Amino acid sequence: MLQFFDFMDEDRVLSTPEELLSYSSDASRHRSLPNLVLMPYSKEEVSRIVKIANRERIPLVPRGAGTSLSGGSVPVDGGIVLDLTLMDSIIKVDLENQLVTLEPGVVYGRLNRELEKYGVFFPPDPGSGSVCTIGGMVATNSSGLRAVKYGTTRDYVKKLEVVLADGEIIRCGTKAVKSSSGYDLPGIFVGSEGTLGIFTEITLRVIKKPTNYATSMVGFSDGFKAGKAVREIMYSGLQPAVLEIMDKNTLQAVEKYTGLNFPDVEVLLIVELDGFDEKVTLYLREAIEICQKYNANIVEEAISNADRESIWKARKSALPALARYKPTLILEDVTVPISFLPSLFKELEVLGKKHGVEIATFGHAGDGNLHPTFLVDRNKREEVERAEKAIGELFHKVIKMGGTLSGEHGIGLEKKRYISIEHNSISLMKQIKKSLDPNGILNPGKIF
Ligand SMILES: Cc1cc2nc3c(=O)[nH]c(=O)nc-3n(C[C@H](O)[C@H](O)[C@H](O)COP(=O)(O)OP(=O)(O)OC[C@H]3O[C@@H](n4cnc5c(N)ncnc54)[C@H](O)[C@@H]3O)c2cc1C
Repeated sequence: MLQFFDFMDEDRVLSTPEELLSYSSDASRHRSLPNLVLMPYSKEEVSRIVKIANRERIPLVPRGAGTSLSGGSVPVDGGIVLDLTLMDSIIKVDLENQLVTLEPGVVYGRLNRELEKYGVFFPPDPGSGSVCTIGGMVATNSSGLRAVKYGTTRDYVKKLEVVLADGEIIRCGTKAVKSSSGYDLPGIFVGSEGTLGIFTEITLRVIKKPTNYATSMVGFSDGFKAGKAVREIMYSGLQPAVLEIMDKNTLQAVEKYTGLNFPDVEVLLIVELDGFDEKVTLYLREAIEICQKYNANIVEEAISNADRESIWKARKSALPALARYKPTLILEDVTVPISFLPSLFKELEVLGKKHGVEIATFGHAGDGNLHPTFLVDRNKREEVERAEKAIGELFHKVIKMGGTLSGEHGIGLEKKRYISIEHNSISLMKQIKKSLDPNGILNPGKIF
């Protein structure tokens, strides 16, 4: 296979066993070795590589930072991993139109550090933001703590340059504020998990960064009541910027991992309001009053910036803390319409008891997006089987509530066997895949 790519510099072609092993996994539990790793510098190089892969029918897996939690960047059929991290230029900040154009390998955290100089930001804020790339975020429609107010990556993608499976380079979308012209092609590519095309240039909308924040931690005696408080806050028109939740199991893991101390509660809700003046503090108080109607028993407001930072440090360390708490974790990403949030908490309690599995739950309560994390030991087969049974039942319940299997991590390998319980349009999705990638070379084995 190497002979096809002699036009690339040697140091951007990786093929030793050690190098291939480094690209055999992402942040999920899946593993599979590629035959080759290529690190292109430009869209022209990407196009040339894709043309060859298509001609030779070599599977090709685009990859950013490899932080996918669903196995999205694991080369299940071998072939080429296309590492896009060298394509990391911020091409243009267009403040007048509130746009930024960049290459896919730009890291989220770096982009926002750059944008901060202009007083604007790109809000989605995934927990992996210090390392994950914008290309990976677009491919998974990533989001995070601020989605409750600011939406997901999809809401900010204005234009895309995409290398299609035959190597053709196309551009779609518009810089205009709105458009009714033709099919919404960026809408199809966003969230396509590397299966429809490779993004080589991305134009995002950016917005003014708030100057004022008011943040508080609120404790509840159970998830059901916390869910009801969240539901009412969302309905109140207060527009919280963040409504995050962590249950007792998660809090214990985070305490152990960070050394921080939390109030002794069953569920902790983190509420943040943001804006451009002092009114945010008043709005926070209103949100707290709603929580108190649902018997919130402990309230700790962040007085200083340091307080606020330690709250975010705690929340952002939930996943790494749980990863160390038990030998194996199976992290889920279910999302329900907000009115079902209290029922989802109840359901998790029931499933944990029924199947005898330990579940730690944290997530973006304001979006109805929870990460129930099943804590198991992968060497104990029977324990893993019980967790998998519970997860299967959870998915069916969530779909019954009108929810979705994945709020932000994508389907990848992790959930593909369940996708048909959510959609009755799989054959249309497959037709789209077939028409854009007739030889099935782009990230095969994912989603379906
Ligand atoms: C600790 C931790 C916390 C996380 N927290 C969150 C969170 O809060 N919210 C969230 O949404 N996710 C979260 N994630 C998941 C993950 O970080 C995101 O999905 C992220 O957007 C992936 O970016 P990446 O650069 O690592 O992409 P990768 O993992 O490399 O790739 C992800 C998918 O995108 C495709 N892809 C990558 N680049 C391109 C491209 N240029 N063109 C086409 N396809 C491409 C890949 O083929 C793959 O299918 C978390 C992960 C970890 C490990």
